[in-house]
Amino acid sequence: MTQENFIGGRAVAAASGATDKVVNPATGEVIDEVASSDAADVDAAVAAAKAAFPGWAGATPRARSEALLALAQLIEDNVDELSEIEMRNVGKPKSIIGIEMDLSVDNLRFFAGACRNMEAKAAAEYLEGHTSYLRRDPLGVTAGIAPWNYPLNMAIWKIGPALATGNTVVLKPSELTPLTALRFAELSAEILPPGVFNVVTGQGETAGDAIVRHPDIRLVSLTGDVNTGKLIARNAADTLKRVHLELGGKAPVVVFDDADIEAVVAALSEGAYYNSGQDCTAPCRVLAGSKAFEALVPALTDAVQTINVGDPFDPDVAMGPVISADQQSRVAGMVDRALASGAEVTVGGSTLDRPGYYYAPSVVVNPAQDSEIVQREVFGPVVSVQRFTDDDQAIAWANGVDYGLSASVWTHDVGRAMRMTKALEFGCVWVNQHIMITSEMPHGGFKQSGYGKDMSAYALEHYTELKHVMIKH
Ligand code: NAD
Repeated sequence: MTQENFIGGRAVAAASGATDKVVNPATGEVIDEVASSDAADVDAAVAAAKAAFPGWAGATPRARSEALLALAQLIEDNVDELSEIEMRNVGKPKSIIGIEMDLSVDNLRFFAGACRNMEAKAAAEYLEGHTSYLRRDPLGVTAGIAPWNYPLNMAIWKIGPALATGNTVVLKPSELTPLTALRFAELSAEILPPGVFNVVTGQGETAGDAIVRHPDIRLVSLTGDVNTGKLIARNAADTLKRVHLELGGKAPVVVFDDADIEAVVAALSEGAYYNSGQDCTAPCRVLAGSKAFEALVPALTDAVQTINVGDPFDPDVAMGPVISADQQSRVAGMVDRALASGAEVTVGGSTLDRPGYYYAPSVVVNPAQDSEIVQREVFGPVVSVQRFTDDDQAIAWANGVDYGLSASVWTHDVGRAMRMTKALEFGCVWVNQHIMITSEMPHGGFKQSGYGKDMSAYALEHYTELKHVMIKH
């Protein structure tokens, strides 16, 4: 049976009746069918969200906070079901799915607290005889467009700050992974008034584009590819809606000769292959000093050889498939071209001969700085390792990509760590660590990794308009 959109608090079929198939990437089998929406369905969702806006915006911060806390509890209460859907739809191993579920719960709880603690400049008589104060008003109908790598978690990053600040929401999940958003929406009906949160499934070029161009949507927040971000920014310009872009990454891992190589190898063999490397902050581009390089390459190769790849439902499996046949051939093509241009593979380097879309965890050594494997996001289980000669080259190579989402520095020299964290042009820089995130801290890119922040109190700024009120007396 086809799963319908969630509009105005209930399931609604796509006006055209069109559907998209949903596939399990671990087997290649079709597991479900969802509405393939177009502009008519987006119109209906926006109308519902617009009608619900005055009531939701008028609710007290306490009431909205309590609703968000209840939504967080809903995820906790249904975590087994939501996890299983995500495992089947994304191929996520049972051993890792709990982490992102916990992050979603925590994110909602954070925003439940944050919306009761909004700050602004003090009201005062900045002009004689006039009192000025500031308001932070919600925008109205906001839209979230989510990717497939963390389907529910990325949706929650959009929903949390939007609802906390009194906006209503239209969410479009990725056409590849719409199932948890639909189930979460269905569950949310017992908490949220109809129309406050709506889900429209479908393709980017149809449902997504209709959202981006809709005159009644005030903000569109995308997590996705850099090229999608550029297209959305252009298409949103006609209605001058706010655009918030969380885009791709190509995180450098800068390893100095004094680093704890064992710790680096542990961080890489866990972090770079986590979620099959389909993570915008994955530690995928290692830059190592000469001595560090000699120790790191064999140790990383050995560690990667032991990664247990297989059926996501096997509790001992650490890595599952990539999301689709297209993604599998994209990863394979990039590694093949790296080899053809002179790099070497020390482990992996091929697809796995089994049903589903698997690619072996791989390490590519000595690619050139200007090669595709260094310059472009692979979004698969592949780490490249380059050898740098001095700090200046490490900085130039680390910054020498279009992306600027995250980076890490590995050294025990505090002065060097301070100089590197200043020099690196990335939205998040870790020292002797890579990949941890927390709801209190902002997440977002520099350069072509986009603009705007998810998580943290800073996210609330994007979802509100600052209004100056001046009273003459
Ligand atoms: P994608 O850009 O292909 O798709 C993302 C979403 O955009 C989907 O819902 C898609 O349907 C929609 N879309 C596509 N074309 C559109 C259009 N013309 N108009 C409106 N919507 C459109 O990205 P993806 O492949 O689903 O996700 C992987 C990408 O997401 C990677 O580049 C990854 O780095 C990035 N990502 C970034 C972050 C971050 O926080 N910066 C987090 C996770 C993923």
